[in-house]
Formats: sequence, structure tokens, C-alpha cells
Amino acid sequence: MLRTGNRDLIRRINQNLLLNLIRTQGPISRAELSKQTRLSPATVTYITQALLERGLIHEMGAGYSSGGRRPVLLRLEPKAGFVVGVKLAADSITAAVTDLDATVLHYLEISHTLADTPTPTLRALIRTIERALKESRVDRAKVLGIGVGMGGIVNKDEGVCRFSPILHWRDVQVAAPLREHFEIPVFLDNDVNTLTLAENWFGHGKDVEHFVVITVGRGIGMGIVTNGQFYRGAMGGAGEIGHLTVQPGGAQCDCGKQGCLEALASDPAVVRSIRESIHEGRKTELSERNLDLERIIKATERGDALARRALADSGHWLGIGIANVVNLLDPALVIVGGEGVRAGDWRFGPMRAALREHAFDGFADNLQVVIEFGGNETWARGAASLVLNEIFQHPISQRADTAMTLNF
Ligand SMILES: [Zn+2]
Repeated sequence: MLRTGNRDLIRRINQNLLLNLIRTQGPISRAELSKQTRLSPATVTYITQALLERGLIHEMGAGYSSGGRRPVLLRLEPKAGFVVGVKLAADSITAAVTDLDATVLHYLEISHTLADTPTPTLRALIRTIERALKESRVDRAKVLGIGVGMGGIVNKDEGVCRFSPILHWRDVQVAAPLREHFEIPVFLDNDVNTLTLAENWFGHGKDVEHFVVITVGRGIGMGIVTNGQFYRGAMGGAGEIGHLTVQPGGAQCDCGKQGCLEALASDPAVVRSIRESIHEGRKTELSERNLDLERIIKATERGDALARRALADSGHWLGIGIANVVNLLDPALVIVGGEGVRAGDWRFGPMRAALREHAFDGFADNLQVVIEFGGNETWARGAASLVLNEIFQHPISQRADTAMTLNF
């Protein structure tokens, strides 16, 4: 005999299953929903009626039919709920308010200076979210959750930042103070993971079963999707591509080892190599003072050979690192994003060449490589999809402490 709890769970699973199908394939008819889910037409009618009454979906114009009555189509009501996505960086906080389709309704970016303790940053986080919600003018009662993405090692289930070298944080509660203030579910994840989730939801990774997202900037990170699922590893730290050894005995890395990809190909690595060349007396229009990626790109465009060489070298190492990933995982798609993509072909031409040279032929031939030029808004949208993912995923895969239902 089924206990009530089980019956409730089955109802919720079926409901989320239908809601997800309507979201991804809508406008869609009840008959098609029944066919795809193998739920009986009566069950589909019953559940969709409940979803209609809660305003989560709406009926729209008739669809095509080969004969007889044309079926009414169902579509997700994107404005039935709203979520907030936040990207927390060392020098800025970005917040985006989106609807259930992950369409950004309002976007806000404030600059921020780190203090000695996390408290001022957490307060700034709350203030920024408050301001974004106010300016977006969405109905606060319809705000379903907040997603936060940040650099470093994050315990997603506990909403705790275990370690962030960029923010200099260790074991900081991030979700709890936000949850206390806003009284809605708050989810925390590593920012590369939130970006990967965004690609999976509405970006190039939509409908791709095997892909990786590689971010290049201050560090080099990676999110992995295999079989349509996130791959996190035993410790939740999978994807540390930045610390693949690509040149044994090479440049010193922040992690304490030598020859890591990050030490050779990240933005700081480019700056460092130019600085070293200047010390060696090499000719360049760049000066050691105020050396940053922006100035290096400008110098490259004006024909500075040293700047070109440094960006090409970083691309070359990046290509070798990605080739190793491709040989290991055989993805169909590699998405390269992050602030370092501004360097464009000066960096990614040599990257593609090295990737072709070092990846196993059978993999490289069919591999699609996309360079993604999204800014902080994309990252914030990614954090918003952290909440959407919780809303639309099967309740059976939700943990008890994060389980949420849409209550109206
Ligand atoms: Zn390292």
C-alpha cells in the first residue's frame, strides 16, 4: 500500500516532469505530453489543470492537427515567478533578476572593495539584492529564490564557502545570512559551475549531452557535463583544469606547484611573462607600471611583437590543456568563456592550433569550440539558473534541506 507521503512524492514528480516538458518543448498539447511521459490522458489533464490554476502555465492558440479538432497548446508562464542571480567577485557584485525563462528583467553591477572580514561583503550582497529587486519592480511574493555564484571551493549543500583564494575566505556561511534576511531559499555554488549550468539551460550547451565550459581570466576553471549531468567528483572539486601540469618544472603556480596551466596561460601569467621580458631588456611599448590585459591587448593591436608573443604563448598552453581534457572526456563541445576572452584571436588562434595538434584525431575532427563573449550578466544569469534548476528538477533528486515547492 502506498503511504500518503509516497503518493505526494509521485504527484510532485509527475507534476515537475510535465512542467519541465512544457518549459522545454512548449507550446505543447496535452496529447503530446501524454505520449512523451506515458502518463494517462486523465492524469495529464488533472495535473495540467492544477498547474493552470496556480498560474504556472497558460493555454494558447490551437496547434496543427492532421484532422479533427485542433488541440489547445500549453506554455510555461514565465512571469509566474522570479529569481535573483548574483555573481560575487573580489571587486564587484552583480545581480540579475530573471523570470522563469531566465530572461533578465533587471541587471545591476556595483563595485566593491574587500574588507578584512567577510561581514561587510555579506552586507553589501544583501544591499545589492534588495536594490535589484526594488528596481526590477517584481512582486516580492513571487520571488522564489536567490542563487549566488562565487570563485573558490564551495559546499553547495551547506551554502558555505570552504575556501576562496580570491576573496581570502575560509569557511564562510554565505547562504544562511541571506536566507535569514530574505526568507526564501538561497543556493550557493562555484561560479564556473553556475556558468556551466547557464550554458546547459539556455546557452550553447542546451541539448548537448557532453560538454565542458572553460573559463580564462584571473584563473582557469572548468565545468563538466557528461551524459547530461554535472560531474562534480568525490570532493566536489572536479574540473581543476588550471592545475593540470602542462610543463613540468615550469612557472611557479599560486597553488604551490610548478608548471600548472594557470601559471602559464591565465591573465596574470601573461602579465608576468611580459614583465620578465621587460626585465631581460626585450623591446616593447609596454611599461612595467600599470601592466594589465587591457593594455596588452591594445599593444597587440598596434603590432607590439612581445605582447603578441605573450598572448600567443598563453593560447598555446591553453590549447594543450584543453587537448588533454578532450582526450580524457571526449566532449562534443568546448565553450571558452571568462574575462580573458577579450584577447580574441591573438590568444585563441594559437589555442585552436595547439588543440588540433595535441587532441586525438578522432575527437578533434568533430569537436565544436565556441568562444563565449558574455560579461558579468551571463555569470549572474548563471547564478539565477541555480535556482531555476532547483525549481524544475525532479523532487526525488532534491535533498530534504533544499527541497522547495512553488507556493502561491
Ligand atoms: Zn597550480
